[in-house]
Amino acid sequence: MRILLGPAGIPLAAKGSGIPDGIRKVKELGLHAMEVEFTHGVQVKNDTAKNIGEVSKETGVKLSVHAPYFINLASQDPEKIRASKQRILQSCERAHYMHASPVVFHPGYYGKYTPQETYEIIKENVLDIIDKIKERGWDVRIAPETTGKKSQFGSLDELIMLLKEIGTKHSILCVDFAHLWARSQGKVDYKEVMKKIKTLNLDHLHSHFSQIEYTDKGERRHLTFDDTMENPPVEEVAKRILDAGMDIRIISESPVLEIDSLKMKGIFERLGYKF
Ligand SMILES: [Zn+2]
Repeated sequence: MRILLGPAGIPLAAKGSGIPDGIRKVKELGLHAMEVEFTHGVQVKNDTAKNIGEVSKETGVKLSVHAPYFINLASQDPEKIRASKQRILQSCERAHYMHASPVVFHPGYYGKYTPQETYEIIKENVLDIIDKIKERGWDVRIAPETTGKKSQFGSLDELIMLLKEIGTKHSILCVDFAHLWARSQGKVDYKEVMKKIKTLNLDHLHSHFSQIEYTDKGERRHLTFDDTMENPPVEEVAKRILDAGMDIRIISESPVLEIDSLKMKGIFERLGYKF
């Protein structure tokens, strides 16, 4: 099994610099991956994306992309669905040129629909996105992410069912270990989580990790390992990841990004894993 670690965005140690220097810093720190954040929109052009792809190749740092937050594939407004698909597809196009994969996104909200209705609407739209990726020949997979709020579509079971139905050639799971914790008010059996994920037979797993604060509605804000090591329990999650033996990429969404990636690296090493 192979574990890759890295920050969600440009490391704090390279704050203020562009994505290429961010990637070089990741390498220099002894980390292996970086997620490019298109949180507030896809601002990178295709040419810039190609340059970023070169730096990724040169350094060996694996890239993924986080699509913008303003996405709702289950909106009641067709225009909002159209714009959401557009944002995901734009992210996929840039990811293709950056040699980045997967493109992570939060699928949407239940709103007035039942969970089953939401599921069907999202599935249809995801299949449409995959068709376009194939049509355009982009070498990228999409990754719906397990979400942290109860109002959001994206429990582990929903996403596993979705991926079983749509297949995993063009899609992959993004499991956010902290979101699972927030969504279920701190009641997660990570052994069970990894067991369920393994039924997907993925070639590797994409994941997000941080500490998290929650309310009865779910996720409130991300915390650092300095704040706590128990929400969710870091060592327990690390052990379950090692037990599962799957290749995994773990992106730190901690407010201190790479600092917690490095701490996580230390934990895996103490548990006997060699990077
Ligand atoms: Zn996310």
